[in-house]
Amino acid sequence: MTGIDRRRFLGIAGGSLTLLAAAACSVDSGPGSSSGGKRIGISMPTKSSERWVADGNNIVNQFKALGYTTDLQYAEDVIENQVSQLENMLTQGANALVIAAIDNKSLTGVLNQAKQNKVAVIAYDRLIRDTANVDYYATFDNFTVGVLQAKYIVERLGAPNAPAPLNIELFAGSPDDNNTFFFFNGAMSVLQPLIDAGKLVVRSGQTRVEQVTTLRWEGATAQSRMENLLSAHYAAANVDAVLSPYDGLSIGILSALKAVGYGSAKKMPIVTGQDAEKASVKSIIAGEQTQTVFKDTRELAKRAVQMTNAMLTGGTPETNDTSTYDNGAKKVPSYLLQPVSVDKSNYRQALIDTGYYTDKDLQ
Ligand code: BGC
Repeated sequence: MTGIDRRRFLGIAGGSLTLLAAAACSVDSGPGSSSGGKRIGISMPTKSSERWVADGNNIVNQFKALGYTTDLQYAEDVIENQVSQLENMLTQGANALVIAAIDNKSLTGVLNQAKQNKVAVIAYDRLIRDTANVDYYATFDNFTVGVLQAKYIVERLGAPNAPAPLNIELFAGSPDDNNTFFFFNGAMSVLQPLIDAGKLVVRSGQTRVEQVTTLRWEGATAQSRMENLLSAHYAAANVDAVLSPYDGLSIGILSALKAVGYGSAKKMPIVTGQDAEKASVKSIIAGEQTQTVFKDTRELAKRAVQMTNAMLTGGTPETNDTSTYDNGAKKVPSYLLQPVSVDKSNYRQALIDTGYYTDKDLQ
């Protein structure tokens, strides 16, 4: 099953799974030690993207090693699932919640409840907005993610010195994900000056974030938007680069491109991505997708676990940024990890030498 097929399948199955998932309560128990066997609820958005599966497993393993009891739930990108799973975790007596939100503004009610229960709340990867009831935020430098994607495009195209203007189209993530705006703004900090100077041309004219978002990060949605862009604006011109913020979108974008001859009759444009998901790294090795941004989920899990453990044991969580992430109610103290740009030339060093993948994973 391809990434997109898998997402479609999960999308259909999601409806019927809603009730089951809300009622489900799979608890993995840790041995219980200095942590006093306290309970951690871990709420991840979806299993349809590899990265969140890796995140969930890494977080659980690290909490268990410290003696905590964990309850990991996936909401399959359905907001109501996530809210009811979190409510369930509170009912079961969670001492802390680690949350990667689906919709950054839908958790106010459940987090009020968490506050009343004196539960520690860590926003994981995605900022939770419009509530003061988020204690800490563990993430990557999300603005830099976009900068890395855009710089890669500009360098590979030789854009500032190219003899003629080059064509680019832009994609952004889900509008209810705070990261979407950081990624896009980071990318546009590099691309906008070149667009203004006429060195890069967006033939569709769609350059504002609200024109290019992709609800729930769906690959199929990106694929149909790319198909539309190609037929409306590229009948007599070639697209030279596509800014894609996530590997799952890149897969859809590449399908649309291949369907009209890119990669065979026509040169494949530069296509970026994010997460270094296996299918996309394979695509990079095969010369289709060009670049991705690797964010080591093992390190992110480590940060979130450290923050939570410090909160539950009377310590002070380590942070390295207290000004960037204003969630509308407060500046959430954060730890930002550094993302890494990966292409065919360095995937081995970044992904295999670090033990993130084995050679076999990428065959
Ligand atoms: C994450 C990305 C991921 C995207 C889609 C974002 O919030 O930061 O790593 O590609 O969600 O799942």
